[in-house]
Amino acid sequence: MSEPNVALVTGANKGIGYEIAAGLGARGFRVGVAARDDARLQEAVKTLVEKGVDAFGVLLDVASDTSVAEAAAQLSRLDVLVNNAGITGGMPQHPTGVGLDTIREVVETNVLGVIRVTNAMLPLLRRSESPRIVNMSSSVGSLTRQSAGDQGPISAAYAPSKSFLNAITVQYAKELRDTPILINAACPGYCATDLNGHRGHRTAEQGAAIAIHLATLPDGGPTGAFYDDEGVVPW
Ligand code: NAP
Repeated sequence: MSEPNVALVTGANKGIGYEIAAGLGARGFRVGVAARDDARLQEAVKTLVEKGVDAFGVLLDVASDTSVAEAAAQLSRLDVLVNNAGITGGMPQHPTGVGLDTIREVVETNVLGVIRVTNAMLPLLRRSESPRIVNMSSSVGSLTRQSAGDQGPISAAYAPSKSFLNAITVQYAKELRDTPILINAACPGYCATDLNGHRGHRTAEQGAAIAIHLATLPDGGPTGAFYDDEGVVPW
């Protein structure tokens, strides 16, 4: 019997990341549940294993070089990376009033964290036959929608961090164009999670669906694009 494909999902102890891990597990992946707090990590792995998922824990703080390097060293195979971990930095975030430390913290997690984890995992992904990377973005990162004025509150840290993430996704796709690696950004829609005080109108499971879809794209599928359940999201 061939070995199962291995996926790693960051920020998978709760919310959308947990549901991505559950969904990939249900599709036969062996799933690395990555989280920064050991107690929350063990709890999530236990629940997933009880549900029949072939899950294992990976202690990983996306904001720490050491933590990410140690996590990568624990893995011997990786086929799918879902960069899901993210923070808002708290609201309100008016550009005229937001603290620079808030912007730094949000960019450290939502952008540099993705670059840090992706680059640490790339040597493993390059050995996979059909490697996939999914970056969990948001439609608030769409400059087209922001400039139309109808996407969420004024946000000088969170929304721009997702625009930055989208831009980085395109640059990875350009560099990796001649490889089998497909890398795309996903918007889960407005989901009820801790991130927004559970105000979202969708479930975390519904939000996970687009990431699972992009994580399981067929060979030759799209790369360097931005999707939600409805299709392509404008940059
Ligand atoms: P959530 O329930 O707050 O989950 C966020 C996850 O990220 C948690 O597991 C959290 O871990 C983890 N995390 C934060 N900083 C981390 C770090 N430095 N290292 C490792 N893990 C870290 O939020 P969610 O709604 O599921 O969000 C998941 C992703 O979807 C985020 O990227 C978010 O921006 C995006 N998104 C969400 C919505 C929505 O409506 N919910 C909409 C658009 C996009 P702890 O438990 O340790 O804090």
